[in-house]
Amino acid sequence: MRRSFFSALFLTFFAASVQAQIQSEHAQKTLEIYKTIVEVDTSKTKGNTIKVAQYLAAELIAAGFAEEDVRIVPKDGFGTLIATYRGDGSAGAKPILLLGHMDVVEALAEDWVRPPFELTQDDVNFYARGTIDNKFGVAQLTGTMIRLKKEGFVPDRDLMLVFSGDEESGMTTTRMMAYEMPEIAEAEYALNSDAGGGSLTADGVAVSYRVQAAEKTYATWEITMRNPGGHSSRPRDDNAIYELAAAVKLLEAHRFPVRWSEMTLSYFQQVGEKIGGELGDAMVRFAYDPEDAEAAEILRSQPSYVGTTRTTCVVTMLQAGHAENALPQSATATVNCRIFPGVSVAEIEAELKSVVGNEDAEFVLLGDPTESPISEARADVLAAVGKAVHARHPGLDLITYMESGGTDGMHFRKAGIPTWGISGVFMNPDEMYAHGLNERVPIKAFYDGLDHWSVIIRDLTTPE
Ligand SMILES: [Zn+2]
Repeated sequence: MRRSFFSALFLTFFAASVQAQIQSEHAQKTLEIYKTIVEVDTSKTKGNTIKVAQYLAAELIAAGFAEEDVRIVPKDGFGTLIATYRGDGSAGAKPILLLGHMDVVEALAEDWVRPPFELTQDDVNFYARGTIDNKFGVAQLTGTMIRLKKEGFVPDRDLMLVFSGDEESGMTTTRMMAYEMPEIAEAEYALNSDAGGGSLTADGVAVSYRVQAAEKTYATWEITMRNPGGHSSRPRDDNAIYELAAAVKLLEAHRFPVRWSEMTLSYFQQVGEKIGGELGDAMVRFAYDPEDAEAAEILRSQPSYVGTTRTTCVVTMLQAGHAENALPQSATATVNCRIFPGVSVAEIEAELKSVVGNEDAEFVLLGDPTESPISEARADVLAAVGKAVHARHPGLDLITYMESGGTDGMHFRKAGIPTWGISGVFMNPDEMYAHGLNERVPIKAFYDGLDHWSVIIRDLTTPE
């Protein structure tokens, strides 16, 4: 009796110490991966994402991934990494994708206080380009795959790491993976390391954890008025600048109709209850009755919230005339829109044309906008994310939200794969320097996030 008690105690202690060792190995390995990939300049013109993909592939294979399950498929000089963590299939369910991107925005060393492609630190932060966007996510996900292999974990379905190589520029690798690879297309859903995450106050107190569940469509038009022009000493009644100015004033006065979804209403209910006051009250009223025009108008007047209530379009640039003593031959306004999911780019173009109401106005749509649906909340995914978040911050609110647009997630959503952005980072939004100078991440956020993905993956893929 006594002996078995002590041997059980010993085994528990032994298991705990093995667990502690795996954890510290996991921390070391993840930091090593983070440092290695941060120190490769993977901005658009360098062509280095293939190198990063090769490095990560070798790490995964060394940890026990079968060689045929780790693939690098290049496209237009950018690398991708697609690695399958085999499950036993007992769930009879389609794979789960784990998303990240290996490229970064350009960084000019002469503009930075610290070298952008060297992982440096002070007492509080890690610094370098990509420390948050998105090498944090890529390192944490890759480290987690290696850790789960070491622990002998077998999920009940396949998991696929899917890393793109040009998220910050053309997203050609993203499009290829989302639209042209049948093994990816059949996934049940995707979890994106490049969006979402926890917000902290300046004092480090957790405010909420945000799950990115949708992205608005980004679309830009140029509206041009033309005129034969002439000498400015002989003005005529029709004038390209006056006509464009009239169009601009009409656009300024236009109110796009209020839109909502289950997701945006629950967002307003949660945020409203949290912040209180007149604004919070308007949010809660809107959540219960989105046809409450007064509440909708209060939200419309708030730059932080207007985008969650409707499509927005705003004139961002003007170009007109060619000489101070000539009548203008053309005048062009650039109009940037963030379109509510479910509304098509064509519908907005028609709406803009009817607002301007001038048949002579030329509309040119720039680029190739991506329309993507909202990924409505899924109870099992939210529960798993909640488990990881609450292990660090008990009781913290999980809030699903719509981004103004710009991650790989929109292409996977468009391809029919619901996608949620659930980064493991917790930081103060004012300290976010993603894309900016002196990008950084709190060292504490790096270490506190080490269990985030393994808790979520184990929860979602361990049989009941
Ligand atoms: Zn990113």
